[in-house]
Amino acid sequence: MRLRNVKGSREQIAANEYTIKDAEQIKGQWKDYFQDGKPIQLEIGMGKGKFLMQLAEKNPQIHYIGIEKYSSVLVRALEKMEENPLENLHFIRMDAENIVNVFEKGEVDQIYLNFSDPWPKDRHAKRRLTSRQFLERYHNILKEEGRVIFKTDNRPLFDFSLEEVKEAGWTLEKSTFDLHHSEYVEGNIMTEYEEKFVAKGNPICMLQIFLQE
Ligand code: SAM
Repeated sequence: MRLRNVKGSREQIAANEYTIKDAEQIKGQWKDYFQDGKPIQLEIGMGKGKFLMQLAEKNPQIHYIGIEKYSSVLVRALEKMEENPLENLHFIRMDAENIVNVFEKGEVDQIYLNFSDPWPKDRHAKRRLTSRQFLERYHNILKEEGRVIFKTDNRPLFDFSLEEVKEAGWTLEKSTFDLHHSEYVEGNIMTEYEEKFVAKGNPICMLQIFLQE
């Protein structure tokens, strides 16, 4: 998702209290940064942040950090936070390719990937957020056996992800081609994209994985 360039969005983000600036300087010191010992969970490619806002409201005992590449998208989440501020929800504007520069091994408890861009061309496979290159990055920031949870309505992307998971040696703990008609639907929080696709009747695929050390 790339919204039309929103004028002043970069400045708005720079001045915003919910956005973490110079996140690379906090690498290895996230516990000191928050000073409350709460676990940290990420959504990578969070879009306008609806999913994380609901999670953060439901689970005040967890810090959630939304990672988003584009200011023009992130600024929409910030506007919603002005209306309903949440102490345990934070944002970083960055390309997730550089995630290992922001977190040390063990600093992240869990990672959500929701309706990630499919990058359909083969030559762009390594840009997919479930590629083996990204799985390696997640391994390098997650705690031991920390989970990655991925949802998509894009079956080719899901099939690719299942292959990458296997190739990279992760354990497939949960997997479904139709989340909304599966045992895993209880407690599911719908994202903005999920609502659109479910309304169209598209089945939602979901997987949950961890890497045994
Ligand atoms: N997760 C939201 C949802 O389910 O409603 C948004 C899904 S949208 C299709 C994908 C989002 O991921 C876009 O906002 C895009 O800018 C962001 N994104 C894609 N690649 C990214 C990357 N490498 N790093 C950070 N954000 C990324």
